[in-house]
Amino acid sequence: MTHSHSETVHSPDEMTQRAYELLKESGFKLTKKRRELIDIFSNDQRYFKATEIHERLSADRPTMSYNTTYRNLYDFAEIGILEMTEYNQEQMFKVSCFPNTHHHHFICTQCGKVIPIHACPMDQVESDLSGAEIQSHRFEVFGLCPQCAQAG
Ligand SMILES: [Zn+2]
Ligand SMILES: [Zn+2]
Ligand SMILES: [Zn+2]
Repeated sequence: MTHSHSETVHSPDEMTQRAYELLKESGFKLTKKRRELIDIFSNDQRYFKATEIHERLSADRPTMSYNTTYRNLYDFAEIGILEMTEYNQEQMFKVSCFPNTHHHHFICTQCGKVIPIHACPMDQVESDLSGAEIQSHRFEVFGLCPQCAQAG
């Protein structure tokens, strides 16, 4: 395992195969639209705004509603193909990290690039919560990635 500064990126084929397996396990059919969605996320392993995905899908399907796109994305998140977050009240999705060893993300608000953060703030927080039963936590950092920051 290497300690690069970018997210653990798997080949598009690997991500596609994994997504197909998850679909099958969950009893979802592999429709043309789902295949197209999987291709988008496998080929570019960053965060996409739901609206950005809808623009792409509806280019060939002018009658498709945003709700349908969103339902598909949400289903994919439910079965573990995608992970989701939100920024400025916009839902964003990316292909799920795997193996999902504990880590956090820096997310570029401009291009959606993800940089993994391997430090966990819970290491400092737990001592203030003695006696509490912690179930989960979230920590995400939003900003401009080095490339977008440089482009100004
Ligand atoms: Zn990750
Ligand atoms: Zn960026
Ligand atoms: Zn953590």
